[in-house]
Amino acid sequence: MGTFADPPAGIQRTRVTIAEAREIILDSLSPLGSEGVGIELARGRVLAEELRSDRLIPPRDNSGMDGFAVRAQDLGRLPATLRVVEELPAGRATHRKLGPGEAARIMTGAAIPQGADAVVMVEATEEAPSSGDAPRGSVRVLASVRPGENIRRAGADVMPGTLIGGPGTRLGPAAVGMLAAIGRTQVRVAARPRVAILATGDEIVEPDQLTDDGRIASSNSYALCAAVSEIGAVPVYLGIAPDRPDEIEARFREALRCDAVVSSGGVSVGDRDYVKRVLSEMGGRLRLWRVQMKPGAPLAFCTLDNRPVFGLPGNPVSTLVSFEQFVRPALLRMMHHRRIYRPVEAAVLLDAYSKPLGRLHLVRVTLERRSGALDARLAGDQSSGVLLSMVRADGLAIVEAGTTQLPAGSEVRVQLLGRDDLQAEPGF
Ligand code: AMP
Ligand code: MG
Repeated sequence: MGTFADPPAGIQRTRVTIAEAREIILDSLSPLGSEGVGIELARGRVLAEELRSDRLIPPRDNSGMDGFAVRAQDLGRLPATLRVVEELPAGRATHRKLGPGEAARIMTGAAIPQGADAVVMVEATEEAPSSGDAPRGSVRVLASVRPGENIRRAGADVMPGTLIGGPGTRLGPAAVGMLAAIGRTQVRVAARPRVAILATGDEIVEPDQLTDDGRIASSNSYALCAAVSEIGAVPVYLGIAPDRPDEIEARFREALRCDAVVSSGGVSVGDRDYVKRVLSEMGGRLRLWRVQMKPGAPLAFCTLDNRPVFGLPGNPVSTLVSFEQFVRPALLRMMHHRRIYRPVEAAVLLDAYSKPLGRLHLVRVTLERRSGALDARLAGDQSSGVLLSMVRADGLAIVEAGTTQLPAGSEVRVQLLGRDDLQAEPGF
């Protein structure tokens, strides 16, 4: 049995930079189709249709204040006493036209009666003693108003034909509200990929099967499920394959029911690292293996049956950091998102960091914003197997391949984890 210290035949690219790997991966993807969903389930989904209003919002001129609908010209001399001829709570329409010297008591949101051209807010009025010809009383107005004042015009929000969003627009709470406002209960959005998640390794067991024989729990499976569901994709849990080619192949065959596949472990140069070989034998097109980064170097990426298959390295931090750099943007792109990258921001690294020349390091840091500037500190032990520092990390500081020493106080750029997708461009 040979090892895979040299790239197996057929691999397209090896020892690529993060940027090159990302490009190879994104170039090989096809976006998923679309589906209709009820608006109550639309938050976070990406529009797959052009969305235009077919109506005026608001539908009628209406009052922006509680007060009195008036004719502005009646308030030339102050205080002015007007007869209150009607009460208009929100939702009540009237056909009565306001005449000279008349006012209608009106609530916020009620349609403006004909004849009125402004609303005086209630705070600028006093009740006047009622008289026989004004059964609802009179009002004394203490301040003048300009025509149009305190009136919200029909269509001020949207007009028929106004573009609300198009393919690629992410639906947040305001967009969901707008869908309801224009009378839509269903909307067409990008489908959510089903993502198969499998682990490999003779030493790996389910968390409830841990004994004292030195085996370790498959933290990767659960971390990956969480990372997949965090972005609105659907994790499909496929368990753990022992280090045997037939077992690994059986899991990958099962995984092809899904739209994408993410495995962890078994892609390095050990005698029992079978994942790449199995994928090739299944007809997978291995497009890259090994990225010049730490943690996470031995990433394998292939397409099999037109699906992206990510063979992530097994060390728990390598798994998650590789997911961040490659799988997450890929899945977001499949879901039609335009902004697929975490934001990258400048920070001051308060601890010193040193590394050998050659590979780019993504260093786990905690972050604190202090009067505008971002302070970064090492989040703990940076070994690829130490998950606790990843638990504590707020970001990954980018230490370039050519850098060896960063003295305390150096400026670094940090990829912000736990933040939403704000960037259409990768940032590094
Ligand atoms: P491998 O890439 O298969 O050589 O795995 C490297 C190391 O990652 C192993 O020695 C394990 O300690 C760890 N590892 C592999 N798979 C998992 C997993 N599913 N969950 C947690 N740790 C893992
Ligand atoms: Mg292994």
